[in-house]
Formats: sequence, C-alpha cells, structure tokens
Amino acid sequence: MKFDNRFVRELPGEPTAAPGARPVRGALYSRVQPTPVAAPRWIAVNHALAAEIDAEPDSPAFLQAMAGNHLLPGMEPIASNYGGHQFGHWAGQLGDGRAISLGEAIGRDGARYELQLKGAGPTPYSRHADGRAVLRSSLREYVLSEAMHALGVPTTRALSLVATGEPVVRDMFYDGRPQQEPGAIVCRVAPSFIRFGHFELPAARGDTALLERLIDFTLDRDYPQLQGDRGRWFVEIAERTARLMVDWMRLGFVHGVMNTDNFSILGLTIDYGPFGWLENVDPLWTPNTTDAEGRRYAYGRQPQIAQWNLSALAHALTSMVDGDALAAGLDHYGNTFSAGYLAALRNKLGLADAHDDDLDLVRELMAWMEAAECDFTLTFRALSESRPGDLSARHFEALSYNVQKFSRAQSRIESWLSRYAQRGDAPDRKARMDGANPRIVPRNYLLQQAIDAAEKGDLGVLNELLKALERPFADQPQFEHLAAKRPEWARSRAGCSMLSCSS
Ligand code: AMP
Ligand code: MG
Repeated sequence: MKFDNRFVRELPGEPTAAPGARPVRGALYSRVQPTPVAAPRWIAVNHALAAEIDAEPDSPAFLQAMAGNHLLPGMEPIASNYGGHQFGHWAGQLGDGRAISLGEAIGRDGARYELQLKGAGPTPYSRHADGRAVLRSSLREYVLSEAMHALGVPTTRALSLVATGEPVVRDMFYDGRPQQEPGAIVCRVAPSFIRFGHFELPAARGDTALLERLIDFTLDRDYPQLQGDRGRWFVEIAERTARLMVDWMRLGFVHGVMNTDNFSILGLTIDYGPFGWLENVDPLWTPNTTDAEGRRYAYGRQPQIAQWNLSALAHALTSMVDGDALAAGLDHYGNTFSAGYLAALRNKLGLADAHDDDLDLVRELMAWMEAAECDFTLTFRALSESRPGDLSARHFEALSYNVQKFSRAQSRIESWLSRYAQRGDAPDRKARMDGANPRIVPRNYLLQQAIDAAEKGDLGVLNELLKALERPFADQPQFEHLAAKRPEWARSRAGCSMLSCSS
C-alpha cells in the first residue's frame, strides 16, 4: 500500500502524544496509537475495495492492522479535533473519541482513501468514554456503508470488520443495567473525513489562523478543481449537501443524528448510528430513541436540518468567505434540493414529462401512504408492477401495516391512482422506475437478524444480506425473503425499529 498523509504533514498537530482526555487547542489532530486487542478475527472484508488500494486482505499483518494491533509501513495514526452542534446546541470540542485515522492510502486510480478505525481505543477526545465499539453498531456501519454505495448514495465506505475478542460494556437501554457485549472495529474509508465541526471549533475559539489553514488545506486537497475560490467552495458544499438530502429522501433513509459533527465537507453520508429506513410512512418518524421527544432529526425534517447545519458552517466561515457567497450558498441549497427532490420523485413515479402539479401528486401519494400505513420502499416498487391504468388499491393492501387504516384510505388511493394513470405509460417506464425504487434496503430488523446470528458465531445471515444488497434494484428471487416488509414481531423489539445513540 502507498500512503500520502497530507493531513498530518500539512496541518498542525498537538506537540504531545500523552494519554488522557483533554481540551486540545491550536491543533487539528493528536498523534495516538490504537490500543491492541486480544484475539482479532475477521467478520467481513471488502475484497474489491482492498484491491483498489493494494491491501492484502489475506495476510495476517492486514488483520492485525485492521484490529489496531499493528501498523503497516506508511501509517501515521491520529485522532482529529473537531467540535459540533448536537441537537441544535453548541457542544464545544468533540473530536475523534473512538476513531483513529491510520493514513491516506493512494489507490490504483490515483484517488485518496483515508483509512479510519472506529473502536480502536481511547484518544485525547474520548472524554468519559472508552473509545470502543460493539459488534452490533459496527456491523450496522459496515453493511450500511456498502449498501448506500450500491444504492448510489455518496457515503464513507467500509473496508473491514473485525471482532476484537474482547467484551465492551454498554447500557444499551440506558436503564442502569450495563451488559457485556462483543467488541468490534470497523475500518471505514473516505477521500476526506473533514466535517462541518472541524471548521466550527477553531471559529468558536477565535483561532482564525488555524481556521484559515484548515480552509486552505481543504480547498487544496479535497476541492482542487476550485483553485482556491472560497466562495465557489461554499456553494459547492451546499450543492453536495442538497444532493445528499435528495438521496436520503428518495430512499426513505433516516440518519438519526444529524449533528454538525456528523456532516461531511464532501457531502458524504457519515457516522452510521441509530439510522433507519422509513417503513410505514410517517414524516415525523425517527429511529433514534434519544430524539423521540423532539423529533428534530425525523424523516421529514432532514432537508431543513441540513440547511440549518449549512448555516452553522456559514457562521463559522463568516470572517473567511465573502458574505454574498455564503448567502448564495444557502439559497443554492434550497433551490438544488427542491429541484432535485422533484426530479427524483418524477423518476420514482416513472413520469415521462414534467407537469406543474407534480409536487402535489407526490404530496398526495405520501399522504395516502401515511394514512394507509403503507411501506415506503415496497409501495414505490409496486407502482411499476402493472400499467398505470391497471393499478388498483388492492395491489397495495398487503404492503400496509394496518388493515383498518388501509381500508379507510382505499377510496383516496383509488382517486390518486386514476390521477396517476392520466399521466400515461411510457415504454421504458418499468425499467426506469425499477432503477429508482430499490427492492431491498437494509431494514433494521434485517440488520438485527444478522447481528443476532453473528454474535452466536454464524456469519451466514450477514453474508447473505451483503450479497443481496450488492444489487438492491434487481429482482433477485433467491433473496425475496429479504425484501419483505417489517414483520410484526419486529415492531417493538430493540434494534429492529428504534435504537439509542452512541454504541
Ligand atoms: P457520535 O454520537 O457517534 O457522533 O459521537 C459524538 C462524539 O462522542 C464524538 O466525538 C465521538 O468520538 C464521541 N464518542 C462516541 N462514542 C464514544 C466512545 N465509545 N468512546 C469515546 N468517544 C465516543
Ligand atoms: Mg459523530
């Protein structure tokens, strides 16, 4: 593997590498060593991604490196320093409390692949926590990273998932009854792990020199095509963020913790935690139990929260980027999201042309899906199964989670269907729709089944799920059981619908 560690080389780090949690000022990272683990073994390896960076997934040294027990030549481990707004409130310094970047690998394609271990032990940013991660949350991150990639959503990737052979203690239900769970480390990969919060922290501290260095570095390394134009840079970040929100909304993905420290400067989905997929349609649904009260990060609020996060970034950049450009960026976000959302939904509906009342057509569809408690993913997929004129409400009945509500919504569904049928039937309609409406998404209950089996040493369920998710838009008869709506038993089981925050 070839490394080119620009973040370490070009930006200021902490002069000390001492252990212990602390505030870190005047530096964008701290040098740290991963804490070795007892008995690492593979849970999953991404062979395609490994080949891209010339890693040797079959070598014992690579397993030890992915477990934090060994550094490969060229690796220079660090934890980076950032802050963030959590649930709308400024939280000060956060930083990589359980993530350790090993280095920036250069792939065969010449692109940059920063490798980051999550759960490899404490760093100066760990505060009161242990720097570790449980198998449950690590497996979820591994599967989602690769599933989102296959779904066409910008995301951090996953290179490997290792069981540490060591227990981690977690109070999963926050009920004062902590339990031991198996520990794990996922290695995630991205061209850059710089977050909105990386800029917010030096700005909040008034460290304009550090802020300026980070801006110039990010422009040079992560946005070379902009040739240092800070105004265009902010507009570009807004554009990517808007496109990401279109992707989440078109697929029914709910991130769950849209804090500014979990927002990537490249517009990637990052920090998979208590995420979920919309099942019975409900704009106020959130999978995150920590957010059950305020529902700040519920499905339907994601687009406006992303704009809020961009405003927080704009605020941090105020003294550094032209004010008109910041305002233009925030406007651009709104326009890009609105146009992108409408285009994505037209695609999902297979509409051949644009009409003025398309947004209304979409809203009424969402409204009846909500009233009838229909499954988001399966209902969109079912719309392509017949020609528009042949669709009737009974095609969707089995996709509802509530028979009574479904039958009360029936006439509303019929009238929407006749309105939809008036839009005609283009010859390529089904192919277009099936390319926009996945058959399979990694629902929380599917992930939980893979976790339950993996905790017992059976990786078959995980491997099958990973295989099925490689082609989420295809009809795959052998994986039909993974395309079912959420079973009744999963409605209230922990992990299958709702989850708590950090694990
Ligand atoms: P998250 O909710 O995962 O985005 O994490 C928010 C902050 O808490 C980040 O600074 C994390 O690094 C830190 N954090 C979360 N879990 C742990 C842990 N087990 N050990 C140390 N730091 C953690
Ligand atoms: Mg985070």
